[in-house]
Amino acid sequence: MATSPAVVLSEIQQDTLARLCDTFVPAVARDDDPTGFWGRAASDLGIAGLIAEQLAAAGDETMLEGVRALLDGLHAQGFDDLDAPAREGMLLAMADADVAARGGIGALRGLTTMLFYGLPVPQPDGSVRNPNWEAIGYPGPRQAPPSPDQAPKTIGVTRAAGDDLVLSADVVVVGSGAGGGVIAGTLAQAGKDVVVLEAGGYFNESDFNGLELWAYEHLYRGGGITQTAEGTVAILAGSCMGGGTTVNWTNCLRTRPAVREQWETEFGLEGLTGPDFDRHLDTVWARAGVNDRCSDFNGPTQRLQEACAKAGIAFKTITRNTDPATYDADAAGLLGFGDATGSKQGTMKTWLQDAAEAGTRFVVGCRADTIVVKDGRAVGVEATATGEDGRTTRVVVHAPQVVCAAGALETPALLLRSGIGGPATGDYLRLHPATGVSGIYDEPQRSWWGAPQTALSDEYGDLEDGYGFLIETSLQAPALGSTATPWSSGAGHKELMAKGAESAAFVMLIRDRGYGKVTIDQAGNAVHHYVMADPLDDRNFRRGIAELVRLHDLAGAQEIITYHRHETRWRRDGDESLEAFAQRAHDGPLGPFDHGTFALHQMGSARMGDDPATSVANPWGELHDTPGVWIGDASAFPTASGTNPMITVMALAHRTAEAMRAAR
Ligand SMILES: Cc1cc2nc3c(=O)[nH]c(=O)nc-3n(C[C@H](O)[C@H](O)[C@H](O)COP(=O)(O)OP(=O)(O)OC[C@H]3O[C@@H](n4cnc5c(N)ncnc54)[C@H](O)[C@@H]3O)c2cc1C
Repeated sequence: MATSPAVVLSEIQQDTLARLCDTFVPAVARDDDPTGFWGRAASDLGIAGLIAEQLAAAGDETMLEGVRALLDGLHAQGFDDLDAPAREGMLLAMADADVAARGGIGALRGLTTMLFYGLPVPQPDGSVRNPNWEAIGYPGPRQAPPSPDQAPKTIGVTRAAGDDLVLSADVVVVGSGAGGGVIAGTLAQAGKDVVVLEAGGYFNESDFNGLELWAYEHLYRGGGITQTAEGTVAILAGSCMGGGTTVNWTNCLRTRPAVREQWETEFGLEGLTGPDFDRHLDTVWARAGVNDRCSDFNGPTQRLQEACAKAGIAFKTITRNTDPATYDADAAGLLGFGDATGSKQGTMKTWLQDAAEAGTRFVVGCRADTIVVKDGRAVGVEATATGEDGRTTRVVVHAPQVVCAAGALETPALLLRSGIGGPATGDYLRLHPATGVSGIYDEPQRSWWGAPQTALSDEYGDLEDGYGFLIETSLQAPALGSTATPWSSGAGHKELMAKGAESAAFVMLIRDRGYGKVTIDQAGNAVHHYVMADPLDDRNFRRGIAELVRLHDLAGAQEIITYHRHETRWRRDGDESLEAFAQRAHDGPLGPFDHGTFALHQMGSARMGDDPATSVANPWGELHDTPGVWIGDASAFPTASGTNPMITVMALAHRTAEAMRAAR
């Protein structure tokens, strides 16, 4: 069957895709179905067509070839003519037999369930809601965002139009997130002429509609989840004005003393253990308005508190960068999709605003392509700005100082495209691999109320040699959550999703000693490699899963479910002992596409240190091999921080900004 540029799948492939989507999310006959959830299949929301449209829009020929091959293979095996149980059996068997098929089936399943549980549908009252939310106990956004008049955009942006935009400045900062924001604000207030280039768009409260899929598309890197090259870890990072600080969960933790000690003694980061770094931490803490007055405990956090008390382990309230004057617990559950109340004190509200008021120019939708080097030193950046109409403008910023603050996923790619940074560029990528375990309780948990993280347990933070894991809680994001919910049949997945109201997720993240690597492909785009190869990390990760299981038991969960691909589930009224289940969860497969492992914290891929063979920048952040280029983001971490990293990123960035001022 011939295909045209707009129609990327043949009719047969499209039919097979429709059958596949309805296998992932079928109509299930139920007498009691007041909202139509059980009777609604993927096809009722037109999901196969939407996926085909997304594939066409992405224009990734390699991915398309993979999808076509998978659909052709299914068709050739008679998938379209089988009944539902046989189709389910075929998919499970294919995924078990072959990693590539597992990845492809997993990706299409993920897309299907994300759309089924996330797609906003216009309602008669003018609001937009997903028809499945009521059945899974998710209220979604409860009010419209403020109007642009009520919440005007207060940072002026320089429009890139025409073929070229050429600017000159003292400093060009690439990336406006936790690190880039602090450096831009600090240097601009010190009188430097600063230009900030941000690949993402500029969105504020008036845009933050609380819709999960809108947020992934507009505020996150790569439109939401991207996978490591090996399919072992799903990555999430912000990409918009404010970077990660616009979408993150406002959990503020200071750098741990042992980590400060390691970075000073092993990597030469002078002053890290003493009052000088305390001053940097205090400065960013104060500007971000960190406080403990907006840390209400929702159901999952209360369950964690009860479990920790019963286990006799540490439990601590989290401090957050949020303004008590505008904090609203009813809205805080959506802050991973941008905070419509404006309470979140990310860099957009703080350091970038300071920078704007001191005259900084911002170019948004502008991706830095290369750093320009002359006679061995930085002289500027070449970039491409893409307008809303898709037209591109070549942007050149002449500046003697360049700050790489594109985040640990992209900063090394920028260096590699520029041919600078030395042999360690892209190496030592740390991810804080994280996962969750869900407990299903007798009562509704209101996971969507209050901030996602307001308490933690650091009991297991240092199990061995400074490495261990933190236990925290998570944002309720039904579309993303549907991808981590195990699928062993269409009806079974729906059944688990329908328990959403009574579910509470505990999460844990390990401080990884092992590491991955960032490389670039032929087009110069970043590729992220990560395999959990260090036995210590494997031990801690598995122990973490087992401890989450035990905590749910102590908190009284009736059922406990891990995020393994093969449903791994315990029932209080079943035959399996809790310890036998904890062991089973501990031993479960963690290979490619076998387990819901996530990375929200990317670090270390252009690290600071005193050895040019094993680090990219000197202990103050300036490149060993290219004066005038500075690393100003989480890439600069010598090792994983072991704590949620925003405050550490900011404090190191503040330290680097001062070093830049002193440099020349
Ligand atoms: C969902 C989520 C929740 C989180 N919750 C917390 C939390 O509660 N507490 C905490 O401490 N940490 C949290 N984090 C992590 C924290 O937000 C990050 O560690 C931090 O933002 C990293 O700062 P950064 O400066 O390295 O990069 P980022 O903040 O990610 O900023 C990088 C910016 O650079 C831009 N960029 C990339 N490439 C280019 C290019 N070539 N040209 C121009 N611009 C470019 C990106 O668009 C992005 O805006 C969370 C992260 C996520 C994703």
